[in-house]
Amino acid sequence: MPADPMGFLDAEIAQLKAQGRFPRLRILEGAQKPVSIIDGKKVVNLTSNNYLALADHPALKQAAKAAIDKYGVGTAAVRPIIGTMDIHQQLEKKLAEFKGTSAALVFQSGFTVNVACCQSLMSDERDLLISDELNHASIIDGARLAKAQRKIYPHKDMKALKVLLESPQARQARRQMIVTDGVFSMDGDIAPLPEIVDLAEKYGAFVMVDDAHASGVLGRNGRGSPDHFGLTHRVPIQIGTLSKAIGAVGGYVAGSQSLRDYLVSTARPFIFSSSHPPSIIATCIAALDILMLEPQRIEKLWSNTRHFKEGLQALGFDTGASETPITPVMVGDTVQARKFSARLFEEGVFALSICYPIVAKGKDRLRTIVSAGHTAEDLDFALEKFGKVGREIGLL
Ligand SMILES: *Cc1c(COP(=O)(O)O)cnc(C)c1O
Repeated sequence: MPADPMGFLDAEIAQLKAQGRFPRLRILEGAQKPVSIIDGKKVVNLTSNNYLALADHPALKQAAKAAIDKYGVGTAAVRPIIGTMDIHQQLEKKLAEFKGTSAALVFQSGFTVNVACCQSLMSDERDLLISDELNHASIIDGARLAKAQRKIYPHKDMKALKVLLESPQARQARRQMIVTDGVFSMDGDIAPLPEIVDLAEKYGAFVMVDDAHASGVLGRNGRGSPDHFGLTHRVPIQIGTLSKAIGAVGGYVAGSQSLRDYLVSTARPFIFSSSHPPSIIATCIAALDILMLEPQRIEKLWSNTRHFKEGLQALGFDTGASETPITPVMVGDTVQARKFSARLFEEGVFALSICYPIVAKGKDRLRTIVSAGHTAEDLDFALEKFGKVGREIGLL
């Protein structure tokens, strides 16, 4: 008998398990809530991206149900064929208005829109894609699919970015695109957009900002990082996700009408993969209405963030470079980070450990994200447990 041609699966899984890199899928029973039932246990949930607690908001659920009654459950087509319903168009108008641009285009996910923009806009070997080293995996994969040359600069290092832009390779490029996360997903720090935009303008590059963790969080009514810095009209490509603060799923790009037209005719995921079910689209429309009408939700997110971050710091934890609701608790060692997370879970707090190779060696941490839905009691309970377990494992 020849060897099993797919035997590599179990061999590689065994290796991942031995290295502690095999993910265990935790099971959420019921909705994504600030206090959730996870693996059968009630815990303060500090791990989702449900920033504004919209994932089970009554108005969003109602909008989804009404859309199913009116439009059915799916579109059964890709957008350019007959997968664009009037509500898809409505959502795109609303997103453009929200982001202060003349147009927007919705994709199946934030991951997809990043891949699509990198691939479509950087489509030739004469193009140059310049990316922060800590950008999201979807930008890395998009850059791999792009035909452009690629250059990575050290995290937020503006001197290095300038050197790259002055290089002969950049000077000879047909197009240059600088891509950055608006808020970085592991450390919760904010991109230096004013400097990036100044450099881009000086050297004839254009900027794409991935605001997956900034939309609904930063800027007026959660408009995102360009709005936060007053740079809306100088950032031509604003990416957002509908899967985090907005509470549903999807991604979008906001920019000029020409950008939209270009992507409609070139972006492969847009052209070849079916569109969102109407219920999702209706949910997102309802979520945007809430962002406009209830800015106090965002204020609550920030007051919770300050309370929790200050509490962690008062206990003696290192919260790294965080400037946003994404707050790492630095541990520095993989085994200890995992143990910290596991013990916290037993105590009723869910904070996921994030370890090498997802973050650099020695940067192992727990990552916490509070939401607008957490009460002061939830957060104080979590802080008490962080203190207790932190001392127990010798981190404090
Ligand atoms: C989550 C995330 C994405 C992907 O968004 P999805 O809508 O979940 O596909 C893209 N970029 C960043 C920075 C993210 O954190």
